[in-house]
Amino acid sequence: MTAQYVELIFDLRAFSETVDSISGIDSLWREINSSLVDRPLKTGGLVSLNLPAGNIDLWVANANGNAQVTEKTEFLIVDVLRNPKLLYQCATCGAYGPLRCIRCEEEGRETRLCSKHAHIIKDELSAYCSEHIPTCNCRDGCRETATFRCRSCARTNRQRSLYGQHYHRKHPKDPDIDYCIRCYEWKFERCQSPGCNRIGKSKCQYQTRDMEQSCNAPACTDHSYQWKIWGPHNRGVTLCERHKNVFSMTSPEDLIFLIITAKPPFARRGRYHFMPNPFRLRRLINRHRTNQLSFSQLETALRSIEQNVPYWGKSAERNYGSIMKSYTETMGNLDSLERDFFDKVRNFYQNRVGWEIAAQIKGVEIQDRYSKPGRPPTYRVHFKADEPKGRLVKNRGVNILNELRTLLNIDVDLD
Ligand SMILES: [Zn+2]
Ligand SMILES: [Zn+2]
Ligand SMILES: [Zn+2]
Ligand SMILES: [Zn+2]
Ligand SMILES: [Zn+2]
Ligand SMILES: [Zn+2]
Repeated sequence: MTAQYVELIFDLRAFSETVDSISGIDSLWREINSSLVDRPLKTGGLVSLNLPAGNIDLWVANANGNAQVTEKTEFLIVDVLRNPKLLYQCATCGAYGPLRCIRCEEEGRETRLCSKHAHIIKDELSAYCSEHIPTCNCRDGCRETATFRCRSCARTNRQRSLYGQHYHRKHPKDPDIDYCIRCYEWKFERCQSPGCNRIGKSKCQYQTRDMEQSCNAPACTDHSYQWKIWGPHNRGVTLCERHKNVFSMTSPEDLIFLIITAKPPFARRGRYHFMPNPFRLRRLINRHRTNQLSFSQLETALRSIEQNVPYWGKSAERNYGSIMKSYTETMGNLDSLERDFFDKVRNFYQNRVGWEIAAQIKGVEIQDRYSKPGRPPTYRVHFKADEPKGRLVKNRGVNILNELRTLLNIDVDLD
């Protein structure tokens, strides 16, 4: 009797290892054929093998009279059944992965993802793998997963235009357009002034030490006020109408807090916004204030916040340091400057009108200093003088006070 081949169909559909070549079938066969000995054979029957990688089913297409597998049984594999091959497998779960991580792609490798394991930004086709999920750009350190792109940010900086859900706003009329909170407020918030319907692009920056954040009320240019702490030619600290009105009643400590914590306007490279010198600082605080602050009151206010400044951030600390430095320098010279003015003023009156008039002046106090670039500063000087003061102003029809003003380049306060 000549040995007849047993014809088999290999069914690998429940087997998870990839077998995709003849040599693959060969080595698989070598692995399993010894365990077939003694198995019964019947045309149409099934020999099932349990392997760690799953079941292999051998369908007997034709037993050719063989009733049992022996050492000598020869086989002919007539067909192999396999699952459709997954060319694109999800890197996470192995299922069909039609999507690709664009960040991996930029790094030169391909990471395939199924729809369940791909992170996708709303309305966009690009996918991200778990390693490259983009985070919110609301501020440095926000780790929230980004879910949408701000339409407006994307125009200026696409890289940084993704945000987490907490930072999301819809276009007021078109719910399909997404904005980040910042852009939304800038574009759509109305001026809070009663009856005004203009867009409030300026946000009130008023904040005192017990307020968690600045007022932030939107205001149009007509209904906002600029407190020019960085000089007359720069944008200042924006105040809404309400806070413009309470401004003069705000404690000097809170105003100093506002000055040193305010974010300066954008400065061109190499330029820097200086903190006000003590004269300007006092002028800024005294604006609209009924009880004008003296220098010693200003100093008390500055000293009283010293302990708290480190809690307000690095730039507040720097600004405070720069104010204090200029304060110490300026105030250190003030006494000798006042003595100098006193001598000059008395000499002037003595020479011009006589000693009795000169003796009327008991002292001088420097109240303010105005600087113009390229010119010596002008001081505003207060004369402490006995009444009546008329003869300090005019002598025999001549305005001698004006002469003195020009001579010393000062502004005189006689009251
Ligand atoms: Zn997956
Ligand atoms: Zn990736
Ligand atoms: Zn965020
Ligand atoms: Zn935005
Ligand atoms: Zn308005
Ligand atoms: Zn306000």
